[in-house]
Amino acid sequence: MTYTHFTLETDADGFAVLKWDSPEKPMNVFDDSVINELDKVIDDITADDAIKGVVVASGKKAFSAGADLSMIGKALATYKKRQGVDAEGAAKELFEGTRKLSLILRKLETSGKPYVAAVNGVAMGGGTELALACHKRVGAEDTLKMALPEVKVGLFPGAGGTQRVMRLVPDLQGGLQFLMTGQNLDAKKAMRLKLIDAVAPEADLIDAAKKMLSEGVDPVAPWDKKGFKIPTGKVYSPAGMQFWPAANAIYRQNTYDNYPGARYMLHSVVEGLMVPIDAGLTIESRYFAHVLQSKEAAAMVRSLFGSMQELNKGARRPAGVPESNLKKVGVLGAGMMGAGIAYVTAKAGLEVVLIDQSQEAADKGKSYSEGLMDKAIKRGKSTAEKKEKLLGLITATTDYSALSDVDLVIEAVFEDREVKRVVTEKAEAAMPASAVYASNTSTLPITSLAEASSRPADFIGIHFFSPVDKMMLVEIILGEKTEDKATAVALDYVKAIKKTPIVVNDSRGFYTSRVVGTYVREGIMMLSDGVPAAMIENAGKMAGMPVGPLSLGDEVALDLAWKIKEATKKDLGDAYPSSGFDTILDAMVVKNERFGRKNSKGFYDYKGKDKALWPGITEITGPSKSADEFDVEELKDRLLGIQALETARVFEENCLTDVREADVGSILGFGFAPFSGGTLSYIDGIGTKEFVERCDKLAAKYGDRFAPNKQLRAMAEAGETYYGKFSPVEAIAEAAE
Ligand code: NAD
Repeated sequence: MTYTHFTLETDADGFAVLKWDSPEKPMNVFDDSVINELDKVIDDITADDAIKGVVVASGKKAFSAGADLSMIGKALATYKKRQGVDAEGAAKELFEGTRKLSLILRKLETSGKPYVAAVNGVAMGGGTELALACHKRVGAEDTLKMALPEVKVGLFPGAGGTQRVMRLVPDLQGGLQFLMTGQNLDAKKAMRLKLIDAVAPEADLIDAAKKMLSEGVDPVAPWDKKGFKIPTGKVYSPAGMQFWPAANAIYRQNTYDNYPGARYMLHSVVEGLMVPIDAGLTIESRYFAHVLQSKEAAAMVRSLFGSMQELNKGARRPAGVPESNLKKVGVLGAGMMGAGIAYVTAKAGLEVVLIDQSQEAADKGKSYSEGLMDKAIKRGKSTAEKKEKLLGLITATTDYSALSDVDLVIEAVFEDREVKRVVTEKAEAAMPASAVYASNTSTLPITSLAEASSRPADFIGIHFFSPVDKMMLVEIILGEKTEDKATAVALDYVKAIKKTPIVVNDSRGFYTSRVVGTYVREGIMMLSDGVPAAMIENAGKMAGMPVGPLSLGDEVALDLAWKIKEATKKDLGDAYPSSGFDTILDAMVVKNERFGRKNSKGFYDYKGKDKALWPGITEITGPSKSADEFDVEELKDRLLGIQALETARVFEENCLTDVREADVGSILGFGFAPFSGGTLSYIDGIGTKEFVERCDKLAAKYGDRFAPNKQLRAMAEAGETYYGKFSPVEAIAEAAE
């Protein structure tokens, strides 16, 4: 029998190896053709008396990356088309279509033949669910990375994952956490949770699985046997009664009930545990089809799966510029950012020349990498050998002539025009004519910094976020004179260090800093309205932001916010709209020297890792009003709405040119309510008309900062949406023209 995605070879003992190796794909993923073929292979195996047992393995470096989510997008599009004509038929088709894999895996499990999964490398989502449907699992001890990450894109595992995990794990909390967080398990953790039964070196996996078969594997899953008891006990039991209400409370605390995927996963788990497996699988499928129809799932899949992948693959890379093949990068300034940039660059295998004013400062920057590697070794995530190799790639020096053979220079010295001018000149005198020069400035327009350069066409902004090793977004900024080669090199570099790029045009604050500034500002405006500080912070988190606006103000530093305010005031003169924001910031910074986290005094008092709201806030703002006077829904609307509206302005000003970048940039850059799909998806999700009406109401009550911009208002009047009007495909075509 020949198949496209699978090979099936049976040895003399009757043990077959079913190897998944989709042609011309770097990873095995479930799409319609794989699912249909798997269905057939299982039937063929069941019908073949010569096969006594089956090893399910992968022919690739990884087991499987899970489902191709575009398949889900298609199913949803068909559903929407049919819904208006035949709602019941459309719902039935969606339910049946999306549970196909679940039923096929159940068929495998109940076929009467024993299956053992030999899981190598990464097994995500549907890949893990395939392994869980087998009767036993052997994991690669050195490379296994097992996860059900669907919740991260607004969904949940819909091919038996919620049912089988909870019937296997010996500890309720561990199992539920695995499902609810989408975390990766290495072999040790997967063993502890009993999600795999044995480990073996990757090279011996198939032999180990065959050995298991030869020693006897029961072809009946434990839950298909009479008298099966769930290892962690019944839901309706004293232990269950303690655990499940608390689990629900934790879910709400973590999500503020903003994520239908997580909500219905919990339903699926609890309800599924109270019934036999087949009923449990049906419950899971029904909730899955339901979640799929939510606007949150659609927005998250689009931004965090589709758009992010497209950006990572270079959607914005100028066509026709050859691949840059970077080898060596110069980093100027070995402070907080420079040290982080040197680390992520060396981690990608590139050589780094790390320059500072003194050898001591340069060495200190390099020692940051040493510290991070030591931590990773301690946690078992790296080795002494890898550390040596990484440190060997970084040359810490004060000598600019070491830049003679770099491909790219990234400047991260003090945020001072004159300092930046001097180092630009020094670096350009030393680096090859072919190399690109990038600044990591957070506030200074790239076009003006490029005035110090003798080759502004090769001058660009590469804006990292702090901490560099953790933050996945990089904002690339084009100056007026920046040309395609510099953009291509910057994008190739970001790809090499495995981060996600957005490309924006030059403007003050670029995209992310400008928008996130409105969140902090709105929080401070609320303080001046008399809203209790704790209520403001909670409203921010309830709205879906990772931290409250006052807390974020402390993190980015209030004295910096004050400096930016003063600069803007100077620029605008009489046109500057003074408000409660100025009064509060002046009092915090000038009068009380409360700069934020950096001097342990801001809107919060900091003691080590602990923090508590500063009791003196009301001395500055006057006594706060009763929380009852404020509608928390309106506070949430203000906090998200002001950021979305600022994004709409940035978009109209052409600083942002691609809706995908607005959305992905807002989630990865400043944690904008991920369930919304990002700042512009937030507006589309509400509807431009409704959003503009809300803004108008807020503007009447709180002032012009809520007044919708022209483009947005015109779109609302015409009934248009961002994704409808500025389809990313057209954006690419336009950019290519
Ligand atoms: P930092 O003060 O920690 O580090 C700056 C480093 O530059 C210091 O080590 C200093 O000795 C060195 N330096 C100063 N003058 C120099 C010279 N002439 N030659 C060589 N080295 C010199 O500052 P940072 O927080 O790392 O910020 C650096 C840049 O990154 C700034 O432009 C800042 O705006 C930008 N940035 C900062 C953040 C952040 O969160 N801190 C985020 C994004 C971008």
